[in-house]
Amino acid sequence: MIDEKKIERAIRLLLEGIGEDPGREGLKDTPNRIARMYREIYGGMDEDAEVHLSRTFSVGNNEMVIEREITFYSTCEHHLLPFHGKAHIAYIPDGKVVGLSKLARTVEVFARRLQIQEQLTGQIADALMEHICPKGVLVMLEAEHMCMTMRGIKKPGSQTVTLARRGVFESDPALEERFFRMMGR
Ligand code: ZN
Repeated sequence: MIDEKKIERAIRLLLEGIGEDPGREGLKDTPNRIARMYREIYGGMDEDAEVHLSRTFSVGNNEMVIEREITFYSTCEHHLLPFHGKAHIAYIPDGKVVGLSKLARTVEVFARRLQIQEQLTGQIADALMEHICPKGVLVMLEAEHMCMTMRGIKKPGSQTVTLARRGVFESDPALEERFFRMMGR
């Protein structure tokens, strides 16, 4: 549960910690502003992907479904800095599909938490397996990490790519090749 009062206290302390005066004009509303913002960017904490994935539709053919270039924003749990990029999702139905917007919603549920990219990728894949029960799922994330680009080794534009394969995508490499072909790679 998000505790806005606690966040406000923490941000005031943080400002003092970096040598700022939390009472000065430009900063006096900052703790409250951040607390309200956290409610949004960490809103996935109070959400379950099931809400978005419980409504499925029957289909006759089980051709691969791909939703690509889903923009996401998440927060690195090691530095509390954003990482953001694109998610690409493929699944092979087993008689059931979900509305396409629900795939993007599922990405948001898990992105709006403290994350590491590998875990985010796996959680999206597992939720789709659990709720759509397809023959297989492949999730690919490409993201830029601010903790890599604005500090440390400072490599702007560098991308971290992660993949999670479930079901038939684990056993049949030809399916993954088809995914990359359909992605235009
Ligand atoms: Zn980081």
